[in-house]
Amino acid sequence: MAILQIRTLGDPVLRERCRPLERFDAWLRATVEDMIETMHAAPGVGLAANQVGIPLRFFVYDDGEGHQGFVANPELFDLDAFEEIDEGCLSIPGPFHPTRRALRCRLRGQDLDGRPIEIEAEGLLARIFQHETDHLDGKLYIDRLDAAGRREVLRQLRELELKRVQGG
Ligand code: ZN
Repeated sequence: MAILQIRTLGDPVLRERCRPLERFDAWLRATVEDMIETMHAAPGVGLAANQVGIPLRFFVYDDGEGHQGFVANPELFDLDAFEEIDEGCLSIPGPFHPTRRALRCRLRGQDLDGRPIEIEAEGLLARIFQHETDHLDGKLYIDRLDAAGRREVLRQLRELELKRVQGG
């Protein structure tokens, strides 16, 4: 297993609309193991394939509340009861900002063997599913904020980067 490099804001792969995953093979299994290790090490609760430079439609997740796994070719249904809760992203490391998401949703996709799955999600898990599916469409959570929110996240990001540079 290996820790993969997480791509950050400005990397064009984060803006790609990823292609459907068609092969459920040994390469996929090995890549998913690396992605799970990378997500846990970060630490984060979800990681989409294009965040590690692979423009294919799949992601891994672990909400820390007992729900973890892999989904390929996800589609969201029945989004319901919107709320604004702090959200962050491993590709925009540091800042968090209230972001509007559905409290509940249903996700359909495929498992590691390509078999169809359907998961009903609520709360953090539902938020992860929406956040990661957005990634696969080339979308980041800051795209869902208003101009002031986006400016605030980018300001915090610059501040943190400056501190990292100065701190050595
Ligand atoms: Zn993210």
